[in-house]
Amino acid sequence: MADEIEEDVEVEDGDEDSGDDEFGSCCTELKEAMSGAEFEPLIVVGEDGVLYMSVGLIDIEGEEPGMVDHPVFFCPFCGTELQTKEDVRQDGDAMN
Ligand SMILES: [Zn+2]
Repeated sequence: MADEIEEDVEVEDGDEDSGDDEFGSCCTELKEAMSGAEFEPLIVVGEDGVLYMSVGLIDIEGEEPGMVDHPVFFCPFCGTELQTKEDVRQDGDAMN
């Protein structure tokens, strides 16, 4: 009998348990932009699992310039939808 052999290809790269958000799986451009081996990435995944892109610097008096981040809904490189407004919103009203 020819048993079907199921290949268990699990891709795990020791990430924290951040669900199934695989930003950067749509194209290598985004992947590289996020990994930032040779530069400081301006596209990062926040603690809330939302992908943010830095759009500028803000000068706060008496403080270091801060980055202004905005959630990214579509990949800036290939146009793939990365997350929805619902994903981003998740205003946890249980955060005290
Ligand atoms: Zn992409």
